[in-house]
Amino acid sequence: MTTTCPPSPVPFPDRVDVQPGPALLAGIEHGPSLAAHRRQYGEPPAVSSEELHEALRRIALRGRGGAGFPFATKLEAVLQQGSRPVLVVNMSEGEPASSKDTAIALTRPHLVLDGVVTTARSLRAREVHLVLPGERPAAAAAMRTALEERSDGVRIRTHVAAPRFVSGQAKAVVELLSGRPNLPVTSWQPEAVSGHKGRPTLLSNAETWARVGLLVLRGVSSFCSLGTREEPGTTLLTLSAPGHDPVVREAEYGARLRAHLLPALAGRPALVGGFHGSWTTWETLASARTSVPGMRALGAPLGAGVVLSAPHGTCPVTLTGEIVAFLAGQSAGRCGPCLNGLPALARAVSSVVDGTDGPARVEQLAALVERRGACAHPDGTVRLVRSMLATFPEEVGLHARSGCSEHRRLHVVPDRPDAPAVRRAS
Ligand code: SF4
Repeated sequence: MTTTCPPSPVPFPDRVDVQPGPALLAGIEHGPSLAAHRRQYGEPPAVSSEELHEALRRIALRGRGGAGFPFATKLEAVLQQGSRPVLVVNMSEGEPASSKDTAIALTRPHLVLDGVVTTARSLRAREVHLVLPGERPAAAAAMRTALEERSDGVRIRTHVAAPRFVSGQAKAVVELLSGRPNLPVTSWQPEAVSGHKGRPTLLSNAETWARVGLLVLRGVSSFCSLGTREEPGTTLLTLSAPGHDPVVREAEYGARLRAHLLPALAGRPALVGGFHGSWTTWETLASARTSVPGMRALGAPLGAGVVLSAPHGTCPVTLTGEIVAFLAGQSAGRCGPCLNGLPALARAVSSVVDGTDGPARVEQLAALVERRGACAHPDGTVRLVRSMLATFPEEVGLHARSGCSEHRRLHVVPDRPDAPAVRRAS
């Protein structure tokens, strides 16, 4: 029997609107070629591992893949192992609502490559891997073109990530490098201690490596000339919405988030942090500053910088149901909570959406699934579902009465043999 996975309500985009920014995206109008890149930045200087570590510590660089882990700490752990490390640029970007790594591939590929090549030289690493996105052919092609332009003397092996939401997880990427299925596995050792072939592995996403490139090319003072004392620099945001091309913008830390949001989506709630993120109201978004700890304190962690708005005509409760159905189909199917729990959770959320059941069953299943998976996939899905219930209690109540504030006339019920196909809203 074959089963089809529900599609993502936000498909992988054919087009990404990348806007010039103050640091990483400065000068993108000159194109992504190596010649344009060298005209803007020159050659990267040689740096020792100690100098690199100290510079990373001073700029307080956090990984931009979602977890926000300090990159200097990761490098420190790699250096402490005392053996030759493996370096990995993870461009999988399996999150459909995120397009920032795609934006970097299309506009700034040589910042990424300068970052990883300079680090490889300073750490005397002989093995560097670049994981390309399986579902974003333009980004993969742009990185291949950039590689062909260079002659660094550092061999970079390319791999293509499987088209699955969880393929970009660090442990899934290490599996891919070893020729095994690109799926998460249980392992309690951080990659920095024991990653590819048991060697210390410095693995990060494209934006992080591009920040390393910018640091070695421009130096600490330039990096810290933007942002705040606690959070120097900038971050990339992907502004997405169903039916809209994503827009990637560069925001200075400490600046009002509102200044970067799309005017057409003003007033609308948004899912911050992507499909594993948290719903938040427009009022919270409008008052927020671009800040990792600041957004976390507001209950809307920035994660990988996704702000997915529910535009007019899109109900956030219905959209959540579609996302959970998609996520349930993306599991590696290796852990019980994920294999059985997420489909059950998706059905329970669907019942809330179509008004045939209340949120109690959703809460019950969320508690059963939480903290039981080998990776963050079940917990991320639970976070999304709980934030929907907490942010939209009135909308959930309206659905229970067969209504929906975005679709006042008709309330469409998913295919279920025991339910009518269409019901009239209150
Ligand atoms: S929790 Fe899910 S996605 Fe993660 S390893 Fe287990 S089955 Fe795979």
